[in-house]
Amino acid sequence: MPSTMIALNKAHYPVTALGPGRRIGLWLQGCTLACPGCVSQDTWTFTADQELPLPLLMAWCQEMAQNGLEGITLSGGEPFAQPAALRTLLQALHDWREDAGLNFDILCYSGLPWSRLQKEFAPILILLDALIPEPFQAHQPTRLIWRGSANQPLIPLSPRGEERYAPYRSFEVERRPFQIVVDAERMWGIGIPGPGDLARLEQHCAERGVQLGDVSWRG
Ligand code: SF4
Repeated sequence: MPSTMIALNKAHYPVTALGPGRRIGLWLQGCTLACPGCVSQDTWTFTADQELPLPLLMAWCQEMAQNGLEGITLSGGEPFAQPAALRTLLQALHDWREDAGLNFDILCYSGLPWSRLQKEFAPILILLDALIPEPFQAHQPTRLIWRGSANQPLIPLSPRGEERYAPYRSFEVERRPFQIVVDAERMWGIGIPGPGDLARLEQHCAERGVQLGDVSWRG
């Protein structure tokens, strides 16, 4: 495997709020799109100290998969802002899936328009099972599962993706799934918060004596 470096904000397992089943979540670092209302502003800045060698990341994924793996979700940040690293990562995931006889799917988010992705990144798209493109639009709230705004389609890109994701293209939920993860240094949410959810979370924490300091949804 080439020793490509990839800029990563965080990785987590199991993720159950961004795609079907128990998944690995990989949040790539770096995004210049600055969608108004973005809740992941901590992923915007490219910093060299968040780069890690791809073989290290693959080894971690393989270790996590021993507990069961139905999918891998790539988000950010903007994954397509690192096209060479993204393509190498996806090829490595494909090789691993095939060699190990696994059946996980690969879902990727992007804030870029679908038309631009098709024009500029076709060699990467063929390595995905499903894609959720288009910039987040805070003024278009939605109940569509795994989507942040109503303009974001869920596009299957492979037979595996078609089988797994087609039933969810127009699937709506009353409340989208959301996970809260706490470690020694930080607390973060996994999933797509609804309008006002993060303000309510901050208020609940404050009522219990926990003041949230730096939060990713305020610049
Ligand atoms: S919503 Fe996604 S694409 Fe838009 S600014 Fe935030 S991280 Fe970037």
